[in-house]
Amino acid sequence: MDRRQFLKGVLAGGAVAATAAPAPAEARGNLTMPPKAMGLLYDGTLCIGCKACVSACKESNGLPPEFSTEDHMWDTPLDISGKTKNIIKMYKDGTGEVKDREKDGYAFMKHSCLHCVDPSCVSACPVSAMRKNPETGVVTYDPHDCIGCRYCVLACPFDVPRFQYDKAFPQIVKCELCSHLASPDNHTRFEYSACAQVCPTGATIFGPTDELMAEAKRRLALKPGTDYMVPRGKLGGGDWQMAKAANYVPQVYGEKELGGTQVLKLSAVPFDKLGYRDLPERSFASISETMQHSLYGYLIAPVVVLGGLVVAAKHSLRDQDEDQE
Ligand code: SF4
Ligand code: SF4
Ligand code: SF4
Repeated sequence: MDRRQFLKGVLAGGAVAATAAPAPAEARGNLTMPPKAMGLLYDGTLCIGCKACVSACKESNGLPPEFSTEDHMWDTPLDISGKTKNIIKMYKDGTGEVKDREKDGYAFMKHSCLHCVDPSCVSACPVSAMRKNPETGVVTYDPHDCIGCRYCVLACPFDVPRFQYDKAFPQIVKCELCSHLASPDNHTRFEYSACAQVCPTGATIFGPTDELMAEAKRRLALKPGTDYMVPRGKLGGGDWQMAKAANYVPQVYGEKELGGTQVLKLSAVPFDKLGYRDLPERSFASISETMQHSLYGYLIAPVVVLGGLVVAAKHSLRDQDEDQE
């Protein structure tokens, strides 16, 4: 969808709405963090790019290998896909000599579902196949309810849900925070995410989102080069090991973006270099649902507005990049 197509869609929706009886206005703000929100903290400065988390995710979720080399010997996905829910990507500039440096350096970044506090995918799904757990806030997917419309694919601002185009009965694939490992009688007691369990350095840890945020802020407050202890596995239950505080970008990605996410990120290289752009604090879902309810009287699907917002955000980022060149 380009900008012209988006505007056409909105105008078409408006034309239909103009002939219909007006609906009552129902503005809404961002949804708030659920009381027992769970998530991950990924600290790119602790990541060594071993991809053990990619393999553990596949094993835990029963996903097949994906080949990008000619020998087809190793699982080598280049991005998240219908076969891969979690990926580690590498940033490299110039000579790429120094880790966690923007110029002539390199860095790692994890990409998977961020479990948004106010998820666009849930807002856009017409049949509630995408759901946000009211207690833990984990965003899950039910293939039995899914009608394959791919609205969630269009609506997600982080390009996360992927459709299995190569399957006779395709499903949407995205990280569900290993919710299949949760205790059936208590959804707040996780066995916990495979990627965090296996991570050897504590770059990915699992825990309550508020405690992960406190841990992230603790790291940001450290003087670069200071020795400190990092938890491994999960907060409050794993082991600890020594690390050196990095020269972090002073931002926890996911604290404010689009109303916040339950997966948080730290980095020493600016996030926009790593595929995570600046985003407003108001969620796209709240904007689209307010527009849908107040302006278009339920006659325009939220995905049209959500898709337009995502496309406009991407255009704006591209324009910024072009201005910088
Ligand atoms: S990152 Fe995308 S798929 Fe994940 S919860 Fe947010 S909107 Fe949904
Ligand atoms: S493709 Fe996505 S939006 Fe459409 S029904 Fe399935 S989960 Fe919902
Ligand atoms: S397992 Fe940990 S250190 Fe290895 S790539 Fe994943 S996040 Fe990085």
